[in-house]
Amino acid sequence: GGGGAGSSTDTSAPDGGSSSDGGEAPAAEDITVGVAMPTQTSERWIADGDAVKAGFEGEGYSVDLQFANDDIPTQSQQVDQMITSGVDLLVIAAIDGTALSGQLANAASAGIPVISYDRLIRDTPNLDFYVTFDNFAVGVQQGTSLLVGLGVLNADGSEADATGPFNIELFAGSLDDNNAGFFFDGAMSVLQPYIDSGVLVVPSGQTSIDQVATLRWQQEVAQKRMEDLLTSTYSGADKVDGVLSPYDGISRGIITALQNAGYGTTIADGLPIVSGQDAEIASVKLIADGVQFATIFKDTRKLAEQAVISGNEILAGEEPEANNTTDYDNGEFVVPSFLLESDVVYADNIESLLVDSGYWTADEVASGQ
Ligand code: BGC
Repeated sequence: GGGGAGSSTDTSAPDGGSSSDGGEAPAAEDITVGVAMPTQTSERWIADGDAVKAGFEGEGYSVDLQFANDDIPTQSQQVDQMITSGVDLLVIAAIDGTALSGQLANAASAGIPVISYDRLIRDTPNLDFYVTFDNFAVGVQQGTSLLVGLGVLNADGSEADATGPFNIELFAGSLDDNNAGFFFDGAMSVLQPYIDSGVLVVPSGQTSIDQVATLRWQQEVAQKRMEDLLTSTYSGADKVDGVLSPYDGISRGIITALQNAGYGTTIADGLPIVSGQDAEIASVKLIADGVQFATIFKDTRKLAEQAVISGNEILAGEEPEANNTTDYDNGEFVVPSFLLESDVVYADNIESLLVDSGYWTADEVASGQ
């Protein structure tokens, strides 16, 4: 054995130091966790908030859960308030990933550790950990699902028969959300080679993320952009075959615009292939009904569970276990992260992925709510 057990590190103990290591951990009932979520307009964040709250309460802690209506000043105030009230840990899904540096500086001064939840908080050194999904992989899945819908790829990723050319349009998320770039880059990593080879064409010519972004991920903003594209680019003989959408709310806006323009009500009668994300119940029903082609399932229960695990490690004074220490540079440092995996949902695996796992019931899928 490697000798010196226990003796060498004790020599520098400060004189008079009375508290032994670990003896300072507060009792569970004295711990409060502040949880800041962006909005309740998208059901995933409600589910996240509820699951994170339940998880920490299950540890015996109190939880202060706040939603900010996608309003940046509201979220800043909520975080300020949590710091003032002396929470022991902050778990934050930011609206604008660059807008919380001041708050996190205050948290650091007050000795409050911070976990960035799902979305990376940028431009601050005062961040302890990041729990999220593999966001680039989510984008790869979105691009792949579009190609599967067009018949270019099989669901297992192998080449299928269709060679196009197919007209597609691209949508991305909100530029102030660090995830938006990861999703878009992941999707383009699989779409770009087919654009280069001519299998895919983007008739609008709008292919940069700045051109295709959707402020605050809003459905109405996406619907409006799709309507504008239909007018500007598709009033002649060209037809849309597919649309890359990064989020189910955006997908539903796009689908509404296409339906209103006479593309048919289902894929079988002419509606283009549209991707998605989050397995929102309204979109899961649309997938079951052959209207939206696919979505990405990110199990918010698992992300919440990971936040609790990492939070407990931090509260115990340990370094939280990361499985990625390379990908998420927030502009100040590479934030140690724990990434979870996601799945592509098609009509034929709704039951195995979403119903069997208890995420949605068969009744909810049938009614769409
Ligand atoms: C999340 C997605 C979500 C989007 C819009 C992103 O940061 O990762 O799951 O669809 O925000 O709420």
